[in-house]
Amino acid sequence: MAKSTFEYVKKFELDDTILPNTWMVVRLDGKCFHKFSDDHNFAKPNDIRALRLMNFAAFSVLREFNDVLMAFGQSDEYSFIFRKHTTLYKRRAAKLLTTINSKFSSSYVYYWPKFFEREPLKYPPAFDGRIVTYPSEENLIDYMKWRQADVHINNLYNTTFWTLVLKGNLTPQQAEKRLCGTVSADKNEILFQEFNMNYNNEPEIFKRGTLLIRKSISNDQEHQSVIIDVHDDMLRDKFWVEHSSLLLEKKIKTNLVYEGPITDIIQEQKKHIKK
Ligand code: ATP
Ligand code: ATP
Ligand code: MG
Ligand code: MG
Repeated sequence: MAKSTFEYVKKFELDDTILPNTWMVVRLDGKCFHKFSDDHNFAKPNDIRALRLMNFAAFSVLREFNDVLMAFGQSDEYSFIFRKHTTLYKRRAAKLLTTINSKFSSSYVYYWPKFFEREPLKYPPAFDGRIVTYPSEENLIDYMKWRQADVHINNLYNTTFWTLVLKGNLTPQQAEKRLCGTVSADKNEILFQEFNMNYNNEPEIFKRGTLLIRKSISNDQEHQSVIIDVHDDMLRDKFWVEHSSLLLEKKIKTNLVYEGPITDIIQEQKKHIKK
């Protein structure tokens, strides 16, 4: 096709190719989810329906983009980690970020009724996004640890705060004042002494967030790669030793049938998986 005289405007588009052989992480975060969660009657501090929906939307992303190795989510955020050597969209930052964001956001809306049966979606939510590159595995692992440490800090605070409000009959202002200047041990103590609650017994998904990984399993002759959701402790270095294949380009086949729990994500892939 002949070029039009307008074509020169294309030159205004700047190159945003990301350096080869670096770890790319896309992190999305819900816009004003404090308000969004109130408007949709999320249970406090943790609405399990909302976490399951976030996980399912992230699963849709992994199912479509094989170059996403794993993802980690908590609260209203999700991080997607690309294969180190991916050449998807020629590593163009805007393409990667916007496509992952829109797939995630539209999946969040599309699957809303699956998880919030009796709670209609009142308005379309939005997610912001950024793409960050890390030059070394150590940096990437520290990134994952940073996000999981964040879950721990926030969840312990929120659990204590909402217990003081809902069971201790404090106003939110009084609860905030009560927690001002406290450290983790103090919060554990408040829960235990005053409410007979052992924080350690809280569900793993609340304490640790959700990690989506690809696992190669084989049943008889068949080999399958499945996406599984786990809530392991990534802060321990042992996790990264035991899961050293996570960051590899090729997955090690485990020669096992799937033995984990039947989660929403496993259920969705069940036709491919024998237990
Ligand atoms: P911003 O637009 O700056 O991200 P925000 O209101 O989304 O603002 P965040 O720091 O991202 O602020 O916090 C997300 C908030 O969403 C939480 O503090 C909490 O109130 C709410 N939220 C998210 N997920 C859940 C959930 N599963 N259960 C209950 N509340 C949730
Ligand atoms: P990419 O992912 O690279 O954008 P693409 O298939 O979306 O690939 P585009 O160049 O964006 O390619 O072209 C969009 C295509 O979508 C059109 O070529 C046409 O086939 C189809 N399309 C879009 N809008 C309409 C429409 N309103 N009616 C009919 N076809 C449409
Ligand atoms: Mg947010
Ligand atoms: Mg957030």
